[in-house]
Amino acid sequence: MSEIINGKELAKSIRLKLKEEVNELKNANIRPKLAVIMVGNDKASKVYVKNKSKACEEIGIEYEEYLLPENTKMTELLELIEKLNNDVTIHGILVQSPLPEGLDANEAFRKISPKKDVDGFHPVNVGKLSLNQDCFVSCTPYGIIKMLETYNIPIEGAYAVIIGRSNIVGKPLAKCLLNKNATVTVCHSRTKNLKNITKQADILISAIGKPKFVTKEMVKEGATVIDVGINRMNDGKLIGDVDFENIKEKVSYITPVPGGVGPMTIAMLMHNVVKASKQH
Ligand code: NAD
Repeated sequence: MSEIINGKELAKSIRLKLKEEVNELKNANIRPKLAVIMVGNDKASKVYVKNKSKACEEIGIEYEEYLLPENTKMTELLELIEKLNNDVTIHGILVQSPLPEGLDANEAFRKISPKKDVDGFHPVNVGKLSLNQDCFVSCTPYGIIKMLETYNIPIEGAYAVIIGRSNIVGKPLAKCLLNKNATVTVCHSRTKNLKNITKQADILISAIGKPKFVTKEMVKEGATVIDVGINRMNDGKLIGDVDFENIKEKVSYITPVPGGVGPMTIAMLMHNVVKASKQH
């Protein structure tokens, strides 16, 4: 019998706990605040930003949004980040990606003070994660680890296979799993014999952005399957990278889309803002 990992419920319980922590911080005169910068009009980004503001409101984290026009220059973006870096009332800064063409997201991430880098994208935090040192861990991988731990799914010694090697999911997740003593393989678009690799995984994570890419033949009986993909279909429905309906009976644990990794990502962002406020 397989179990569906309820990311929505787990995220809710994390937010509840964080709300208490925020109240305690406020009693100590610390008012956690997140600044979000969005450039341009990317539709999906607007939804993500709205969800982040809603989560902040629920938890009691103050929230400032900077909506910049599509034609913003890199220098203007960097100046704004610098201003927010120097603002002592702001504990976390994030730049919503993707940025419009002509703007360099990596340069923007590098400009954010590592102490306010609640997305965990700054090279200092990326490096610290590689060294298994305390840092801001990027939110999606962090949320996945929290889900595995909460459901008591063994990570140590497990064979984990990640499909997707992005800087925001695949690579940091590989480090998180390694830090927890899993044996990790990262696959990508040029990987050969993908099915032969994924079929061996105790924990299979897909982060590629292709609907129903992971089929029943690609998973091992009894495996744990984590679906990071978010694919919006023509009818507006969101589906993951995993062929959920056909796989769910074959595996031990599986995350749904929506209601799996997505809410956990936002909960861990909130966690990082609270952590930044405490360190401030
Ligand atoms: P990306 O779009 O930057 O890169 C995709 C990755 O998939 C690349 O590493 C590529 O090599 C790999 N890939 C593409 N086609 C492949 C194939 N046929 N076989 C093997 N590998 C292949 O990745 P991303 O930004 O990590 O996003 C991936 C998906 O995860 C998207 O659907 C995105 O919307 C979603 N996402 C969800 C959350 C969340 O919170 N749920 C967070 C981040 C990203």
